[in-house]
Amino acid sequence: MEHVCCNLCGAESGAVRYPCTVRQGESGDWRAFRCTHSGYGRHHTIVQCQQCGLVYTDPRPNGHDIVETYQAVEDPLYLEERAGRVLTFEHHLKPLERLTGPPNHRPLLDVGCYTGVFVEIAARHGWDAWGVEPSRWAVEQVRAQGLHVVQGTLETADLPEETFDVVTMWDVIEHLPDPRGALEQVYRLLKPGGWVVVHTIDIESLFARLMGAHWPWLMEMHIYYFSRRTLRKMLEQCGFHVLSDRPQGRYLRLGYLMSRVGALMPVAGRPAEWLVTKLGLRGLAVPVNLGDLFTAYAHKADV
Ligand SMILES: [Zn+2]
Repeated sequence: MEHVCCNLCGAESGAVRYPCTVRQGESGDWRAFRCTHSGYGRHHTIVQCQQCGLVYTDPRPNGHDIVETYQAVEDPLYLEERAGRVLTFEHHLKPLERLTGPPNHRPLLDVGCYTGVFVEIAARHGWDAWGVEPSRWAVEQVRAQGLHVVQGTLETADLPEETFDVVTMWDVIEHLPDPRGALEQVYRLLKPGGWVVVHTIDIESLFARLMGAHWPWLMEMHIYYFSRRTLRKMLEQCGFHVLSDRPQGRYLRLGYLMSRVGALMPVAGRPAEWLVTKLGLRGLAVPVNLGDLFTAYAHKADV
């Protein structure tokens, strides 16, 4: 475990907002870092910076260990949930292209592309789509589909500067040991006038505030809890001009949604899951938007 300073303003320490719920010796297993992991409610100490308001985990596992953990992640359940992701990303592409303009085979990079669902959809829409991803297992899934992917992180991938028109980060920034360093790197990778699109969880959303310590996204694998305000501030500090940030939900298959609810609230969730299976509705795609996920669109100046 290591102590970290505020990634937004550099302040030495924050005030505890949610105390640690992970027992000693239980942390660091790669299974807890799978995208589909249901370890809701299990997390290290979550603090809030008293100067800028950024919420983050401190102390937390060493940044190097976190990256190694992600390299080892394997997650076959995510492949089963592919249908929901396809719908979600198809949905996300529309507002993105309204701001960035049409694809026209321009280069786009998806950071933390996991099994490549967004890379696949962006390529199908006409982008020259690339992914970067630490999980060796996930990278194999992307390559098997003949899509472009670089194994590693933004720091290790050695991507050429001023190359991409768009860089996307879907549900990724909350996992990174150094989000500010990552956004600075994204800025360098973008062409002048290029766009960064960041989708993440919102700790200051009404739903998160109502749920408090029971908000399901308080999880070991999430180490930064942005709000629209703190993410906007960080993007601006990295040189970006933020055009919009607004709640954006996603699609889930009903069967998968019920399995998540079951993990969170077994008493209500398990019978509901049984019923959904019985009625043959597991494959039904349903839109889910509790207002606690948002997307920020920001661009690099045209010089
Ligand atoms: Zn701060």
